[in-house]
Amino acid sequence: MAEVNVPSNFIADIVERDLKTNKHAGRVATRFPPEPNGYLHIGHAKSICLNFGLAAKYGGKTNLRFDDTNPCTEDVEYIEAIKRDIRWLGFDWDDRLYYASNYFDQLYGYAIDLIKQGKAYVCDLTADKMRDYRGTLTEHGKESPYRNRSVEENIDLFERMRRGEFPDGSRVLRAKIDMTSPNINMRDPVIYRIRKESHPMTGDKWCIYPMYDYTHCISDALERITHSICTLEFEDHRPLYDWCLNQLDVPCHPQQIEFARLNLNYTIMSKRKLLELVRGNYVKGWDDPRLPTLQGLRRRGFTPEAIRDFCERIGVAKRDSCVDMGLLEFCMREDLEKKAPRAMSVLRPIRLVLENYPEGQVEELEAAYHPNVPELGSRKIPFSRVLYIEQDDFMENPSSEFFRLAPGREARLRYGYIIKCERAIKDPITGKIVELRCTYDPDTKSGTSGSKRKVKGIIHWVSADHSIPAEVRLYDRLFTVPNPSGDTDSHDYKEFLNPNSLEIITSARVEKSLTNAKPEAHYQFERLGYFCVDAKDSDAANGRLVFNRTVTLKDSWSKES
Ligand code: ATP
Ligand code: MG
Repeated sequence: MAEVNVPSNFIADIVERDLKTNKHAGRVATRFPPEPNGYLHIGHAKSICLNFGLAAKYGGKTNLRFDDTNPCTEDVEYIEAIKRDIRWLGFDWDDRLYYASNYFDQLYGYAIDLIKQGKAYVCDLTADKMRDYRGTLTEHGKESPYRNRSVEENIDLFERMRRGEFPDGSRVLRAKIDMTSPNINMRDPVIYRIRKESHPMTGDKWCIYPMYDYTHCISDALERITHSICTLEFEDHRPLYDWCLNQLDVPCHPQQIEFARLNLNYTIMSKRKLLELVRGNYVKGWDDPRLPTLQGLRRRGFTPEAIRDFCERIGVAKRDSCVDMGLLEFCMREDLEKKAPRAMSVLRPIRLVLENYPEGQVEELEAAYHPNVPELGSRKIPFSRVLYIEQDDFMENPSSEFFRLAPGREARLRYGYIIKCERAIKDPITGKIVELRCTYDPDTKSGTSGSKRKVKGIIHWVSADHSIPAEVRLYDRLFTVPNPSGDTDSHDYKEFLNPNSLEIITSARVEKSLTNAKPEAHYQFERLGYFCVDAKDSDAANGRLVFNRTVTLKDSWSKES
């Protein structure tokens, strides 16, 4: 399992205090409880790192528990994807894989217990009526006319609900707490509803399903979780969490602790909205590299190490905040800078002919894979008379700040020679520059004494005959504004989708050493950024290479703000 360093934070403090007072007999048990109704995103990664990291730090264990109480939105596709993503992030639940649906029998039994204690009742109010009776933040609720049914009648009705005698929505089981509570969650919340739906795990065994709040606390207790860590929106649900466990004879009373969820600018984290983008084909699937899903980030080239580092750096707090996308990219660069081999690629090539270089001659230039990591070794880059360079490394009428190639000007070819541009050849019809005619200075080869002659510009290149074609996909932020969801729903977040979030370049050339580049392999394309081989669309065996740009070399996010 991955090493995570959970720096001290208020949750770690609570765990340490509990260990000192021997509250749970020295045990630490956490869980990660995804609902299998979508793919995991970077926000979930924060929760995963926290739950697994904390337990590991204090010698405890973490369960993976699918919170599968809503048969309508759940799918085994999501279950498998979630498991794969957690493993990829570097965490392992060993044999501790659970489903809330494993506890349906026990949850039913506990509901009967509540009824017998006079603490739950079957209510026949319609959903609308129930809402009216619930009251508001400023007004008390009203008691349901069904609130004082006898225990016998409640048991009879609840059992008949289970047997399928009543239609969906006609009756619910409610906890009998307090309709005058200032906390709306305590105003006789629904704990069971009728849903005549097949469930991915329990099939048609049940037609009544327990509600999340009731299920979650009991599942935690049955698994003997010590610290039940969740996001801030559940703070107001904590009294209900504790109420349920206080009424019932459960093996453990976990402590619910809330922390602020991760928000990242220029993207969205709501599963509902992510699903909408995927279903509406605004992006190409859950693993679209523009999405903050773990599959999207992975396909884009993000590494588990960088994501864990990010989660460590953002820390854990009690107040909501928004983290800058630049920090995630910073973590990515830090990781890839150390381990990505260098390579040369030309995205938008223009032909360059060295007029004084012998035709047919090929030289092998020695190039280290990494300037500071000699263990990565080196490769030989073929150099010849006809090369490609980047179109924008040439300017016909250079500005005073332009130090690369221009008519009559010199630049150094990376790992090679100093060249001089003699003239540009234009297409007679369009006037577009189609080729650069240059000469090279044979006494300036890199790595020899001649390499000491300095010129200001150094440019990357590939040999025309010794490079291979590739497709390169460049990504920009998914939205044009920092907070596309806004603080109100006055705008549709989709209005802010960035129309230029994906640029596909089909004309790129890469050095030949990348012929057998492995799926997901990372490279730093010199001067262009960090790239990875697209695991889905690349097919090296059949000569098709597709690269995704993971991040640019410098922080491109801050420059515009
Ligand atoms: P839903 O609205 O479908 O419940 P959710 O984002 O809460 O969406 P879950 O699958 O229930 O999704 O989340 C699993 C766990 O991950 C929960 O404990 C939740 O608190 C946590 N989590 C979800 N989103 C974030 C986030 N942005 N930052 C930190 N933790 C998160
Ligand atoms: Mg949730």
